[in-house]
Amino acid sequence: MSEKPEKFIDENGLRLDGRKPNQVRDIKIEVGVLERADGSCYLEFGKNKVMAAVYGPREVHPRHQQKSTRAIVRYKYNMAAFSVEDRKRPGPDRRSTEVSKVSREALEDQVFTEYFPKSAIDIFVEVLQADAGTRTAALNAASVALADAGIPMRGLVSACAFGKVDDTLVVDLSKDEDNYGQADVPIAMTQDGKITLLQMDGHLTPEELKAGLEMAQEGCRQVYEVQRQALMDHYAKMQGESTEEKDAETKAQSKEEVVAPEETEASDDVDTEAEDVEDKVAGESEDEEPELEDVEEEAEVEEENPAEDSEETADEMDEEPDTEEDELNE
Ligand code: UDP
Repeated sequence: MSEKPEKFIDENGLRLDGRKPNQVRDIKIEVGVLERADGSCYLEFGKNKVMAAVYGPREVHPRHQQKSTRAIVRYKYNMAAFSVEDRKRPGPDRRSTEVSKVSREALEDQVFTEYFPKSAIDIFVEVLQADAGTRTAALNAASVALADAGIPMRGLVSACAFGKVDDTLVVDLSKDEDNYGQADVPIAMTQDGKITLLQMDGHLTPEELKAGLEMAQEGCRQVYEVQRQALMDHYAKMQGESTEEKDAETKAQSKEEVVAPEETEASDDVDTEAEDVEDKVAGESEDEEPELEDVEEEAEVEEENPAEDSEETADEMDEEPDTEEDELNE
């Protein structure tokens, strides 16, 4: 464990890592990173690295946990043994149980659980690298993973801590600020500003709490923007991919159509001609039975006019017997 720094804020009013008091650490979010989860998110918040996976709505096991009118939301926060400086003993402990409980409560109200009675929505968060603020990082990732899973929600939940170091309020505490600072207040809020998580460790005056909350809310708003953008980029990419697929399908279809119209037209023509001829033949056979002589005469006429198209010939088939007969009579 590192030693307590002499000062947290330098003469320029900047923190140990060069941030301003109201500046949050850099956030990086990747959506839909796990194939087998219904929704997932990889998130970096400063040096924190977390992975969230959402499964569900799905059947509840054990069954006695199921609620007949709504879905249950379960949240499991786990810190990997290798995520911290001194190896963490693997498995659940009091701290992870507490973090899981408060985080579930911070998210649950935002989910339309009444849409999925008798089912479960499971959220798992693994902390791969910890550097203070893992519960807020985990919540931010879980919220995005829920959205990625397509779970209907009132809105996203964004989380960010504030605290006090060197009697100065600072937002999104770093490891040393968290370990040796005067206060640490993680908060989570909905996108319309409703606070869903508020914990406090240390001492603050009511005025400091009020001012700190405003700072943290501004921090949450910044987090929200990154979450929103990450989701939009992800869906734009998916849309692009599906548009590409559609384009490819359309191209393939239009290629088929380039061949198909000729075939269709040709076959239509053939059909129509065949029908015409059939009609004519039927007409002849119904109206007047052509005698052998007439047919022979027709054949002769056709030989005389080979350039004439089949329609004309077909027309002639109606008219010619009389004409020929007349001619012969003459
Ligand atoms: N920590 C640790 N070992 C533990 C638990 C926590 O080294 O078993 C470190 C870790 O870096 C964590 C920090 O202590 O981020 C602060 O922990 P806290 O309980 O305040 O929760 P967090 O700020 O991570 O939400």
